[in-house]
Amino acid sequence: MKKRTIVLFRRDFRLFDNPALLTAANRGAVLPVYIHDPACEGDWQPGGAAKWWLHHALADVKARLQQLGADLLIEAGETAAVLLRLVEETGANTVYWNRRYEPAVRIHDAKLEHMLQNAGMEVHTFDSHLLLAPEAVHKGKGEPYKVFSAYHKAFQKHTVPAPLPKVKQISSWTAASGLALSDLQLLPAVPWTAGMERVWTPTEAGGYERLKLFLNRKLPRYSELRDFPAISGNSSLAPYLAFGQLSPRLVHHYMMRKLPLQEKPGLQQEAESFLRQLVWREFSYHLLFHFPHTAAEPLQPSFRAFPWREDSALLDVWTKGQTGYPIVDAGMRELWETGFMHNRVRMIVASFLVKHLLIPWQQGAAWFWDTLLDADLANNTMGWQWTAGSGADAAPYFRIFNPVTQGEKFDKEGEYVRRWVPELGSMPCKYIHKPWEAPEHVLLQADVALGTTYPKPIVDHAAARVRALQAYEEMKRTASAN
Ligand SMILES: Cc1cc2nc3c(=O)[nH]c(=O)nc-3n(C[C@H](O)[C@H](O)[C@H](O)COP(=O)(O)OP(=O)(O)OC[C@H]3O[C@@H](n4cnc5c(N)ncnc54)[C@H](O)[C@@H]3O)c2cc1C
Repeated sequence: MKKRTIVLFRRDFRLFDNPALLTAANRGAVLPVYIHDPACEGDWQPGGAAKWWLHHALADVKARLQQLGADLLIEAGETAAVLLRLVEETGANTVYWNRRYEPAVRIHDAKLEHMLQNAGMEVHTFDSHLLLAPEAVHKGKGEPYKVFSAYHKAFQKHTVPAPLPKVKQISSWTAASGLALSDLQLLPAVPWTAGMERVWTPTEAGGYERLKLFLNRKLPRYSELRDFPAISGNSSLAPYLAFGQLSPRLVHHYMMRKLPLQEKPGLQQEAESFLRQLVWREFSYHLLFHFPHTAAEPLQPSFRAFPWREDSALLDVWTKGQTGYPIVDAGMRELWETGFMHNRVRMIVASFLVKHLLIPWQQGAAWFWDTLLDADLANNTMGWQWTAGSGADAAPYFRIFNPVTQGEKFDKEGEYVRRWVPELGSMPCKYIHKPWEAPEHVLLQADVALGTTYPKPIVDHAAARVRALQAYEEMKRTASAN
């Protein structure tokens, strides 16, 4: 029997280190397919920013497949039904895909696999979205870790598989026509993506450019500079990893094998510090894999009793970057404009929402989900639960970030704030993170009218801190009474 394989593309829009595509191409004829089936993602269908990236990722991989003499067939609808139709129409007998690990997708994929096998199809799935499969690291008997340092130690005992070579040749046997990419309507009807277009090249090659730039220029000072949002000392690889345009194994391999780490111990340390961040990504998938309810509910059950406040007006002010705390507002505006926010600032704005405003972390996570280009269910869930204090290895609740001192420490000259909050552009450094303390003549000189050109703080830090700690005590009392 002729070997005709359908390869389903999902979050693996690349030709390098793509095990499903490479194995299928080595074995016989291939039909690469993307089926737009947001329902299979459950409550976490791609947000607005992610849809923009998805559109371009699809266009890119389609063009690259065409260069190899194949194409990407684009379809929409229920994956199982579309696949059965394609099998019927094209005579395919095998389906391959790279695994996804989000809870709803896992349930969907298990049913799909079963259904295809019952229909006489051969199905193979592969691991390629992480350095190691999420269940590979465990305490023994499959028990998961909840503490990062222990997970990291156990992770280091494993060998990360080498990435696979680029797919160079594909023979396809059918010219099925499918939909046009524009039929999926992934781009917004009212364009708001100019900022993203300016900052990002959402292609596999764009990912390589960022990786090369990072390794050559930024890695040597990664640990020193990664916490300063005005300096882009980090890699900004997150969206490429989220959409699978870069494989983490390839990033790992480049770093460990291609750089002169033996000759430069300093560089070795920096590479390890960067790889530690990639292991945080592994840990977040490990957690979501073992605790699938945590995308919506706290990992620590006591936090179910937390006295959150529903306040859509305050939530709105936060999303618009109008809180009156410059570092918070700068972060929220950077996010809206570019689809990205620096990690340090993510922690500050998230802490502000859940501790200063007492708004449920799930509402912040939902806003990030809609606006981040790197929206990733595992990382986003872990980031928010960590900040709220309800997650694994979370920040102790009493650690309440002071947005003024955080700003003064990590954006000393106010460069980041000036970039994203231009109405404070002329404020002297001394007051850039606390304009409400500036004397009248300073405000006048900087052309700032508090409450008019820039908001007054929506909460007082000291009072909000006390209220947050009281809420935490109340939660503990309620939880222990139940
Ligand atoms: C509230 C909150 C929400 C977040 N939501 C997301 C999200 O939706 N998607 C996402 O990819 N990251 C998320 N993060 C983690 C982190 O902020 C981003 O991964 C990082 O800012 C991406 O920038 P970078 O690629 O330059 O990171 P680098 O510092 O260059 O790190 C390299 C890679 O390591 C991984 N990584 C780095 N830090 C973390 C971390 N703390 N947790 C998990 N993985 C990490 C990412 O894949 C990143 O691309 C969130 C963090 C917080 C505090």
